[in-house]
Amino acid sequence: MTKIDLSNRTAVVTGGASGIGKATAMLLAQHGANVSIGDYRLDPANDDSFRELGIHQQECDVRDVKAIADLVDGAVERTGRLDILVNNAGIGMVKQIGDVSEDDWDNCLDTNLKAAFFGCKAAIPHMKDGGAIVNTASNAGLLPRAHDPVYSISKMSLVALTKSLALCHAGDRIRINCVCPGPVGDTGMINADLDKAPDREAEAKKFISASPLAAAYDRMIAPQEVAESILYLVSDASVMVTGTAIAIDGGKSLGVPAK
Ligand code: NAD
Repeated sequence: MTKIDLSNRTAVVTGGASGIGKATAMLLAQHGANVSIGDYRLDPANDDSFRELGIHQQECDVRDVKAIADLVDGAVERTGRLDILVNNAGIGMVKQIGDVSEDDWDNCLDTNLKAAFFGCKAAIPHMKDGGAIVNTASNAGLLPRAHDPVYSISKMSLVALTKSLALCHAGDRIRINCVCPGPVGDTGMINADLDKAPDREAEAKKFISASPLAAAYDRMIAPQEVAESILYLVSDASVMVTGTAIAIDGGKSLGVPAK
C-alpha cells in the first residue's frame, strides 16, 4: 500500500470553510500539502486550526471567473506550483421545476457546475508535472432525485464534465475524478434542511433511512469519510484512476432498497 505523502504538493479547495471542503482541506494539509481554501463565507471559527496546519484562506465566490483565477494564481505565486484542485463548493435547490426561477437555475448551475469549469480552466495550465482534480458531485449525480431536479441536473452534468475532461487531459497526466456523497451530516447543506423541518430528528431519520449503509450504522456519513476518498483520488495511490465517480453514499444510488 502506497503511503500517502503530499509534501511539496500545492492544493486548492473551494467551499473549504465548512463540511466536506473543510474536512478535505484539513486532511490534505495533515498529509503535508500546502493548502489554500476559497469560500464566499469564511468562518473565523476555523482560524486557529487552519493557521496550525498552514492553510491559507481566501474570500472567493466560485461563480466569479476572476475570483477563482485569483485563488488559483495566488496559490501558485505562494508555492511555485499547483498539483491538486478540489472543486467542492456547492448549494442545494429543493424545488419543483415550476417554482424554479431563472435566477435559481443560474445560481444552482453556476455554483455546482460552471464553477468547476472555471476551476479547471484556471488550474490545468499550471499543472505542468501532471495533477489531480476532484469534483464533489453527489448521489444525485448518479441517479436523479424527484425532490430536487435542478440540483440533480447540476450534479449529473458535473459527472459528465469530470469524465469528459478526464479523457481530454490524461495525456497531460492530469487525472480528473469525482466523489458522489450523501447524506453527509455535520454540513451546512444538511443542517439547513434539518433546521427547516418541523421535527429535526424525524427529518434526520429520513436522510439516514434513504441510504442502506447509513441505516445499518444508524448515522449519516461523516465529512471526514468523504475527505478520505478525496485524499485517495489526489494521491499517487490512484495514479491510474481517472474519470471515475466514486459513490460515498452508503449504497443510496445502488437501486431500490429492501423494505
Ligand atoms: P456545506 O454547506 O457545509 O459546504 C459548502 C461550502 O460551499 C460552504 O462553505 C459554502 O459557503 C460554500 N459555497 C457555496 N456557494 C459558494 C460560492 N458561490 N462561492 C464560494 N463558496 C461557496 O455543505 P457540504 O455538504 O460540505 O457541501 C460540499 C459539497 O458536497 C457540495 O458541492 C454539495 O453539493 C456536495 N454534497 C453534499 C452532500 C451532503 O449530504 N451534505 C451530499 C451530496 C453532495
